[in-house]
Amino acid sequence: MDSLLFTNAIIFDGDKFVDADCLRVVDGVVAEVGAKLTANDGEQVIDVQQKWLLPGLVDCHVHFREPGLVRKEGYEFGSRGALHGGVTTVCEIQNNPPLMSTPQLLQQKLDDLRGKSFVDYVPYGSLVEESLEHLPELAKLCPAVKCFLGCSTGAGGVADTATLKRWFAAAAAANIKVVAHCEDNSIMDAATAELGDNPQLSSRHDLRRSVEAEVESVREAIGVALEVGCELHVFHISTLAGAQLVIEAAEAGHPITGTTAPHYLVADAEQAHAISQNRFKVNPSIKYAEDNIGLAALIAERKLAGIGTDHAPHPLDEKDRPYAKAPSGFPSVDLLLPLTVAAADKHNVAVEDMLHAVTLGPANEFGLNKKGRLAVGADADLVIADPQLTAEVDAAKLPSRSRWSPYDKQCLRAFPQQVYLHGALAFSNGEIVGEAHGQPLFDDKRIVP
Ligand SMILES: [Zn+2]
Repeated sequence: MDSLLFTNAIIFDGDKFVDADCLRVVDGVVAEVGAKLTANDGEQVIDVQQKWLLPGLVDCHVHFREPGLVRKEGYEFGSRGALHGGVTTVCEIQNNPPLMSTPQLLQQKLDDLRGKSFVDYVPYGSLVEESLEHLPELAKLCPAVKCFLGCSTGAGGVADTATLKRWFAAAAAANIKVVAHCEDNSIMDAATAELGDNPQLSSRHDLRRSVEAEVESVREAIGVALEVGCELHVFHISTLAGAQLVIEAAEAGHPITGTTAPHYLVADAEQAHAISQNRFKVNPSIKYAEDNIGLAALIAERKLAGIGTDHAPHPLDEKDRPYAKAPSGFPSVDLLLPLTVAAADKHNVAVEDMLHAVTLGPANEFGLNKKGRLAVGADADLVIADPQLTAEVDAAKLPSRSRWSPYDKQCLRAFPQQVYLHGALAFSNGEIVGEAHGQPLFDDKRIVP
């Protein structure tokens, strides 16, 4: 029996900071949480020295681009980045070919990833024309299928409302949740035509991909989901108005939920535009201070299911192209814990509400019942971080293959110092420790193990 005792810790259990200061792990599983526990014979004791002991973070939205575009990231680099950010479970979206449109493709991906990932992983399926007939089988292998309502890097978007209705109805019939990127193509096209070549405005991503583009797309997605009876989760909500539509539907008793992303809490359009070149170019675009504030308040009220990074690396030479040709997206799983704490600090939100949004919130949303919590029987995925310790982001040292970050040189606090996966040390003081022993979490709709 392999047994570890963490002592002298400030423990956050996924919901709140608890009175207990000790946590026992037996064979990779949380066995006991209590005050002043004494070590058993032969047990390894780890004095946490009054730092935070948190559940490993769950990032419900990353793009690792494997298979197909490993040159941009891949699981090996992406999962190293995850550990750096305190993330031990990633829910991952394939947004480059081959999309996950059949159970064979998804099973192949799950098989090929064995031994490559340093964290546990949950790939989503794809909701596209080719996947409709396979949804009942796909539903056994993943918690949800991804639908792009608006075009984005690597995805064309849904052509019209009739198509959307057919796709959502197929998901409802297969009893699988739809996770959606909501931006309205016709509103974005009209804005692009209007901005034309105006040198002051043509690279304003927030004007091309406007508040209205998101809000109208969220409205349409919710309308269709209610009509056909499908479960809908709106990803990376960037506007307060979009989030309010989701919450209104949820409060009316419908299975509609949503998450936001760290950059919609800590950056606004002016900052995004001011930061060099296209580093903060992302879809949906980064919006305005009132959206930052409003979304943070909804996290504080626990009305959103959580925060997912939308980690989407590109090589720097691609990002450095002129605005129109630069791809959207940037790495951020590697900074999730410090960014989460920064969002709490910036908006004066209780840190436990922000932490809930990257632990228990997304774990519950996607049925990961052994993740995002420190409770007896949960996987012993743990993060030790010192909330008092501040450091400057050095993008060149981040593990992601892309080696750049829009947060470069920012001062953040609570960087993970040690991370454990299934009770084994996986990351310590900036270095990866041991082998890639991350596991897939879905197999025939049962959570493994
Ligand atoms: Zn994404």
